Parts: sequence; structure tokens; C-alpha cells
Amino acid sequence: MPHDGHDHSHSLLPSDPELRVRALESILVNKGLVDPAALNVLIDTYENKIGPKNGARVVAKSWTDPEFRARLQDDASAAIADLGYVGRQGEHMVAVENTPEQHNMVVCTLCSCYPWPVLGIPPAWYKSDAYRARAVREPRAVLSEFGVSLLPDQKIRVWDSTAEIRYLVIPMRPEGSEGMPEDELAALVTRDSMIGTGLVSV
Ligand code: FE
Repeated sequence: MPHDGHDHSHSLLPSDPELRVRALESILVNKGLVDPAALNVLIDTYENKIGPKNGARVVAKSWTDPEFRARLQDDASAAIADLGYVGRQGEHMVAVENTPEQHNMVVCTLCSCYPWPVLGIPPAWYKSDAYRARAVREPRAVLSEFGVSLLPDQKIRVWDSTAEIRYLVIPMRPEGSEGMPEDELAALVTRDSMIGTGLVSV
């Protein structure tokens, strides 16, 4: 199945573009044109701060607006586009809701397909060989390493992303958040909770 819209070998890592980026980065750093620390701050911003805010708004709206929630379950791409979040790698979105019966977790076993418009750029661990293999083989062990403990009878469903379909986990609304306005709720929603490797708490 094609990933990221083009054919490439998934077994040869790092990929050619990654090597080229690294080569460019070391040239720029060696010439004193780029400060590696500043680069890390930029990447951190897109991984952790700017990107996931969009998804957090989707989640908070799903918690507070039953009509939006129904639309999100019915056609996530359209519901998310209504909030203005469109773009590459987000054309065919599916929202999977966590319940007391089922916890959802997302991986791309072949490479690093990820819903960019709602989550930003994927964290390094999402692209790692270890996560991609273990998320499917031993999801409970992976979750406990992320500090996530599930309810005793909660099943885990692992969703494998592709170029065709990207998943957004809708975490369970935490106890104690009753009556909170949407923007305060959105501030509780972490990136990892929308991948399924985290939970939301107050
Ligand atoms: Fe992929």
C-alpha cells in the first residue's frame, strides 16, 4: 500500500531525503548560518505547540457540541475542514473515539503517515522502528511505557495509518471537566492523547 503518496523502500532507513536534510543542516551549521539550538526550538514548536492545537480544538468541540461530534463520526474530513484545518496528509481523516470499552491507538507500521493539519509534524518516536513494530505486537507494554494504564476491561484497537486514511483519536473527556468552556478543554488535550499514547486529565 502506498504511504506518503509515493513509492519508497520502507526498509532502508534513514531515507534519502532525511540524509539530504542532515547533510544540508551540517553545512549550514558549519558555515555558521544556522544555530542548531534554534532549529531544535523550531521543530519542538511545530511538534508540540502549534500543530496539535488544531486537533485539540477538534476534540474539545466534539466533547461539547453533539452535532459536531455526530458529523465528526460521520465524515471527519468534512467536519475538520469546517474548522479550517485542511491540507496535505489530512484529506481522508477518520476520528476514533475512546470509550470505557475501547482505547484507540494510532501507528504507521510502514513509515510515518500522520494527520498533519490537526497534529503538526510527527514526533521522532512515532517514526521510530521500535514504536512502529511494538505498537502492533505489544500495545499494552508500549502504553505503559508512555505512562498510560487502561481500565481492566478496556480493549485496545490499533489503527494503521496509510496515505489514504489518517486517524485522530478522540480521547475521553476527563472527570472534573464538567462545565468547562471549549477553550479551557482544548488546553487540556495533549498531542499524545490524540495519537492514543496519552490520556487527558484535569
Ligand atoms: Fe506511512
